[in-house]
Amino acid sequence: MPRIAIIGGGHNGLTAAAYLARAGVDVTVLERLPHVGGAAVSAQAFDGLDARLSRYSYLVSLMPEQIIRDLGLDVRLARRRYSSYTPEPGTDRGLLVDAGDEAATRASFAAIGAAGDADGFAGFYDRTTRLAAALFPTLTGPLPTRDAARAAAGSASAWSEIVDAPIADAIERAVGHDLVRGVIATDALIGTFAALDDPALEQNRCLLYHVIGGGTGDWDVPIGGMGQVSGELELAARQAGATILTGVTVTSVTPDAEVTWEEHIGGLANGTEGLRTGTELTAQFDLVLSAVAPHVLGRLLGDEAAAPRPEGAQVKVNMLLSRLPRLREGVAPEAAFGGTFHINEGYTQLGRAYAEAVAGRIPDPLPCEIYCHSLTDPSILGDDLRASGAQTLTVFGLHAPDRLLTPETNERMRDELEQAVIVSLDSVLAEPIVPLLLEGADGPAIETKTTLDIEEALAMPGGNIFHGPLSWPWLEHEATSAASAWGVETAHPRILMAGSGARRGGAVSGIGGHNAAQAALELLRP
Ligand SMILES: Cc1cc2nc3c(=O)[nH]c(=O)nc-3n(C[C@H](O)[C@H](O)[C@H](O)COP(=O)(O)OP(=O)(O)OC[C@H]3O[C@@H](n4cnc5c(N)ncnc54)[C@H](O)[C@@H]3O)c2cc1C
Repeated sequence: MPRIAIIGGGHNGLTAAAYLARAGVDVTVLERLPHVGGAAVSAQAFDGLDARLSRYSYLVSLMPEQIIRDLGLDVRLARRRYSSYTPEPGTDRGLLVDAGDEAATRASFAAIGAAGDADGFAGFYDRTTRLAAALFPTLTGPLPTRDAARAAAGSASAWSEIVDAPIADAIERAVGHDLVRGVIATDALIGTFAALDDPALEQNRCLLYHVIGGGTGDWDVPIGGMGQVSGELELAARQAGATILTGVTVTSVTPDAEVTWEEHIGGLANGTEGLRTGTELTAQFDLVLSAVAPHVLGRLLGDEAAAPRPEGAQVKVNMLLSRLPRLREGVAPEAAFGGTFHINEGYTQLGRAYAEAVAGRIPDPLPCEIYCHSLTDPSILGDDLRASGAQTLTVFGLHAPDRLLTPETNERMRDELEQAVIVSLDSVLAEPIVPLLLEGADGPAIETKTTLDIEEALAMPGGNIFHGPLSWPWLEHEATSAASAWGVETAHPRILMAGSGARRGGAVSGIGGHNAAQAALELLRP
C-alpha cells in the first residue's frame, strides 16, 4: 500500500487525507497543534462565556458542493439576505445592498446620492457572476489553459476587467460614487496588501477569488462555525482510515519524501513552542503533501529562498456583545449587521490608508469590515447567552501590514491596532462599542490578533491568510506533469502542495487538498 505523509492538519490537509484514505492509501497527517483545523476552527475565546466563535476564518464561499458531497460532510451553509451595509462617514446615511429587495437597494443608492450607480454596480456583479459560472467548476479539475478559460468566460463576463488591467480601472468605469467604489474595492484587498492600481495585479487576483465562489460569489455562514467544517473533515478522514497525529512538529523533509518530526508533551501552550519530549522520528514515504505555507515547506527542505516569507496585512478582532450597537441611520440592526458591514472603506479612504501603511503608520481611520455570525446562526451561543440577546462581532481590519510589527513591538501594536479598530467602529455607530462588550472571567470579551499573533498560533508566515500571493486559476502553457496539471507542483516531484499555497488553494475551500489528492492518485497509478 502506498504511504503518504501530509504535513499540516488544517482543513486542506484533512481534505487530502479523506480523499486519499478513501482511495486506499496509507495516510498520516502530522499537525503541530494539539488539534486539527488550522485557521478553520471554532473556539471558546472568552473564559466564562459560552460562545464558540470562528476564531480566524469565518465565512465560506469557495468550498465546492462536490467536496461536501464526495466526503459526506454535514456542512450546511446559510445564505445571507443582506449583502452589505456601508455607512457614509460623517453623515447619518448609508448604503444597504439587499439581495432580497432590488427596489429597496435602488432607493438606498439614491439616498446616498448615488442613484446613477445602481445599474453600474449591478452590471459589474452581473459580469463577475458570468465569470464565476465559467471558472468555479474548473477549480476541482485539471487546470485549463488561459485561452480555454477566457473562451469559457466569454466576452460578456468581467474577464478583461479583472484579468487584463489593474482593478482600479474597472471600478472607476463601473461606478462613480466614492462609497460605492469602496464597496467593490474591498474584495480586492481582503488578504492582500496592494494598491488598487498596482500593475502587478495581485489585488485583481484577490478580487477574482472573492467573486467566483460557488459560481455566484456569495459568502455564506457555516452553521455551527468553522469548527464544524474542520470537524466534519477530520471525521471523514478518520472514518476512511487516515492516521492523524496532533502535537507533532515536522522539522525536516527531504526531496525524496523522508520526513522527520518531533513529538510534544501535551501539545503546544497557547500556540507557542512548548515542551518537547525530544523524541524525533523519521520515516520514508512514497509522497509528501505539504498542507503548510510554501515558505514553511521551504524551511523544512532547507531552502528558504524557494518561497520568500509573505506578508499579511490585516488585524482580526473578535467580540462578544450584550446586544448589537445602535446605528445613526434608521436602518434595522438585523439588516445592517446581517451582511458585511463596511467601515471607513470609501475608495479614497482605502487609497489613503494604503499610503499611510506604506509610510509605516497605522491608518487613521483604519478601514474595517464587520460581520455578525450569531444573527444568522445563533447555534454558536449557549442557551443563556442566546436568550439574553448577546451577539458575536468579528472585525477584519485592512491595511495593517506585518511590516508595522516586530516581535518586540507586537504587544504594544496589538493594543494600538485594537484601539484603532474601536475608534473606527465608533466613528460610524450611534453609541460606543466598548460598553457593549460582555465581561468574561478575564475581562471584557474582546480579543485581537495581529499578523504576528497569527503566525505564532498557526505558523502562517507573515500572518498571510492565504499562505502567500494568490495565483490565476489557469496555466499559461500546457501542463508538464500531473502535479502541474492540478496546480500542486513543487520543485520536487515527490512533494506536492496541498494547502492554501497551492494554485487555487486560497481560503476555506478544501480545493488545495482535493487537487493534491487527485494529483497524488494519478502519480501512484501503476
Ligand atoms: C484571520 C483570518 C481570517 C480569514 N477569513 C477567511 C474567511 O472568512 N473565509 C475564507 O474562506 N478564508 C479565510 N481565511 C483564510 C483561510 O482561513 C485559509 O486560507 C485556510 O484556512 C488555509 O487552510 P490550510 O489547511 O491550507 O492551512 P492552515 O489552516 O494554515 O493549516 C495549516 C496547518 O499546518 C500546521 N503546521 C504548520 N507548520 C507545521 C509543521 N512544521 N509541522 C506540523 N504542522 C504544521 C499548522 O499548525 C496548521 O494547523 C482567513 C484566515 C485568517 C488567518
